Amino acid sequence: MAGITNGVGVLAPPRVPAVRGRLRDLPVTGEKRVLLAAPRGYCAGVDRAVIAVEKALENFGAPVYVRKQIVHNVHVVSTLERAGAIFVDDVDEVPEGSHVVFSAHGVSPAVVNAAADRGLQAIDATCPLVTKVHREATRFAKQDLDILLIGHTGHEEVEGTMGHAPERTTLVTSPDDVEGLVVRDPDNLVWISQTTLSVDETMETVRRLRERFPNLQDPPSDDICYATQNRQVAIKKVAPVADLVIVVGSANSSNSVRLVEVALEHGARAAHRVDYATEIQQEWLDGVATVGVTSGASVPEVLVREVLDDLADAGYLDVEEVTTAEEDLMFSLPKELRRDADGNTDERALGGRTRRLDWQG
Ligand code: SF4
Repeated sequence: MAGITNGVGVLAPPRVPAVRGRLRDLPVTGEKRVLLAAPRGYCAGVDRAVIAVEKALENFGAPVYVRKQIVHNVHVVSTLERAGAIFVDDVDEVPEGSHVVFSAHGVSPAVVNAAADRGLQAIDATCPLVTKVHREATRFAKQDLDILLIGHTGHEEVEGTMGHAPERTTLVTSPDDVEGLVVRDPDNLVWISQTTLSVDETMETVRRLRERFPNLQDPPSDDICYATQNRQVAIKKVAPVADLVIVVGSANSSNSVRLVEVALEHGARAAHRVDYATEIQQEWLDGVATVGVTSGASVPEVLVREVLDDLADAGYLDVEEVTTAEEDLMFSLPKELRRDADGNTDERALGGRTRRLDWQG
C-alpha cells in the first residue's frame, strides 16, 4: 500500500488495525457465504470533503484546521490528523488568519460570520446536497412558512440547517414527537429533513404530521440523499436472507447507524456496526451461514476489505455482490481548491471517484 502525500512528504500508510487469524472457521448448517451490498461506502459528498482537506494540506501546508469531523468516520479523521489536519469544535479555536475547512455536514451562517470575524480563510466542504436543504430552509422562511425539520437532536447537519432559519424551525426527532408539537399556524407549515435518515421512519413521521396538519406542504424534492437511500435499498435486499449483517461505520455516522436499524427491520437475524474488522466477535458467527456486509457513506473501502479478510479466515470465502443501483455522481471541489499550489487546474477539481488514493481502498 502506498503512502499519501501532504505536500511536505510521503507519509507512511495509515494503520488499519487488522489481526488476521483471530476468527475461527467453525462448522454451520449450510454453505458459508457473504452477501456484499452495493452501493456501499463513500458517497460523492464525503469523497469531495475528504479531498478538500487533502488538497488544502497540499496547497497551503500543515496545519489545516477543520471545524468538526470532516466526515463521521474514525479512520478517515485519524488518517487526516496524521497528515496534518487539526480538528476543532469551533472556529474560535483556530488561530487568526489560518485556513479552516467546514465539514461535509454544513454550518450555520453564524459560524461563517464567526470565521470571517476572526479573519479565517474558510473553505466550505459542505455537501451540495446539504446546501440544497439550507437553501430550502432560507427560502421557506422568507415565504413566512414555519419549518418542521425531521432530524436528530445535536447532529451537526441539523444544527447547521436550523441556523439558516432559527426563528422558523422546529425539530421533529421521531414519529412520536408529532403529537406534542406546538406550532404557530397549522396551515402554514412545510417539512424538510436531515439527509441521512431512515427513509421508512421519515415517511412515517411525515404521515403522522399530515394526519395532524392536513395542509402541511412538501419540499420540492427528497432531502434524504441518494447515497443514504441507495445504501438502505441495498441492505433491504440482503437483510431478509442474512443470519448476520455487519455494517462498517462509526457510531456517530447517522447513515451507518440507520443501516443497522434497517437491516434488523427487514429480516436480518442480527446486525452489528463496527469501525474495524477487529471488533467482530466470534460469537456473532455462531450458527451463521449467510453474512451481509455493507458500509456507511463515510467509510473507505479498505475497511470493508479488512472485514472480508477476517470473514474469510472464519470460512466465509464465497463473496457475492448484491447490487441495487450504480452511482457515478461527483461534485466539484470548493472553489478555493480547484487549482493546485502552482495555479494550475487540478485534475481532481471535478471530484474524486476517479482519483487514486490507496489508503482509501
Ligand atoms: S451522505 Fe448524502 S448528504 Fe451526506 S455527504 Fe454523502 S451525499 Fe452528501
